[in-house]
Amino acid sequence: MATQYATHRDRIPPVSLDLNVRGLQPSATVAINERCNLLLREGREIFKLGLGQSPFPVPESVVDKLRTHADRKDYLAVRGLTELRAAVADYHRRRQGLACSLEDVLVGPGSKELMFLLQLVYYGDLVIPTPSWVSYAPQAQILGHKIRWVRTDRATGWRMTPERLEAVCAEDPDRPRLVILNYPNNPTGGTYKLEELRRLAEVARRYRVILLSDEIYGELHFRGQHVSVARFYPEGTIVSSGLSKWCGAGGWRLGTFLFPSSLRWLLDAMAAVASETFTSTSAPIQYAAVRAYYGGLDIETYLCDSRRILRALARWCHDHLVAAGLDVPAARGGFYLYPDFGPVAGRLRERGLLTGRQICEQLLDDTGVAILPGTDFGGYPEELTARLAFVNFDGARALAAAQTMPRDHPLDEAFLQTHCAATLTAVERIGDWVAR
Ligand code: PMP
Repeated sequence: MATQYATHRDRIPPVSLDLNVRGLQPSATVAINERCNLLLREGREIFKLGLGQSPFPVPESVVDKLRTHADRKDYLAVRGLTELRAAVADYHRRRQGLACSLEDVLVGPGSKELMFLLQLVYYGDLVIPTPSWVSYAPQAQILGHKIRWVRTDRATGWRMTPERLEAVCAEDPDRPRLVILNYPNNPTGGTYKLEELRRLAEVARRYRVILLSDEIYGELHFRGQHVSVARFYPEGTIVSSGLSKWCGAGGWRLGTFLFPSSLRWLLDAMAAVASETFTSTSAPIQYAAVRAYYGGLDIETYLCDSRRILRALARWCHDHLVAAGLDVPAARGGFYLYPDFGPVAGRLRERGLLTGRQICEQLLDDTGVAILPGTDFGGYPEELTARLAFVNFDGARALAAAQTMPRDHPLDEAFLQTHCAATLTAVERIGDWVAR
């Protein structure tokens, strides 16, 4: 029988919630997913373009390694399995030419957890562009840190410009700051050009900020041409990555941070806190990750086909949304597009839809298509933007089919109609709904 409280005085009052956590809601992406599941259970036809997780299976060779290491049951070192740290350092050297060794690597249960630890041990202000991935700001809020949003706009594809970053830093030049740069970007799908990275790095160096480069979608640059900003500001950049996106293993929970040797003190502090919190990352997953990071032909093929599918699909969705009258920056990598309903605001206003949130709610009610308003990412309410994750298709089937198609041609519309039909239907519904 359930315990009955004798009086309300026996209960721990909710007022004992920490001030920083009071009123905090579950992350918007998790919330939309739960809402969709509820609607699905009610029998509605729902297109989940809200949560962005990889549609592709984990490469078979990596799954094999996990199988063979399922019996690894001991706690591993706090900073991560030595072989894995060596593999991660090797990967960053190979892919980006960064001078690093295993001593510079910290492994954790997801990069999100590592970001939280970083914000916990480093007391500087958090500087992030609008829009930004949903969790950076709540983490700062939980820890009681000041958040400084850097405004971006449509004209620059919602990218943080060196001028705007400079303006924020110049307000108080000696203030300690943690600046997060994320590209290919969630929520916009955009990336930075080499010259932009170089100039952002110059500003970061001038103000001695710590730059956290969130490159979790780096391997999913559609042309495989991702460049790390750590090349331009090696002494102040921490590179964040992990298995979640490029290896299709979000639920495995494995993230990595690569530090410059000049920031070893931060790594040490994070490892100390990690030893008192998560202890170490799941052992079998770490053994399997060694295989993923050393790579090989099968991983290259997997990445090449994943990129081909995402690129063709991003382009189709982009063109369709633009034809429907929306303003949409072209995506260069990852899973997302960031349409702006601004150009059709007049038509939507006549239907009583004045904000991005109202647009998304009505769209879900009318069409079953779930997307998230830009305000969930720190976007300004008057912007009427939304994030669309174009990954609600069967990635295993699409990947198997892509492997049989010639690699010297982009995948065509017929391929998308066959293998990504649910995504195409959802985007068509958005277009029809706008035109209504
Ligand atoms: N950064 C960005 C931009 C993301 O989109 C995500 C996952 N949604 C993460 C970090 C966190 O990834 P994980 O904790 O799975 O490594």
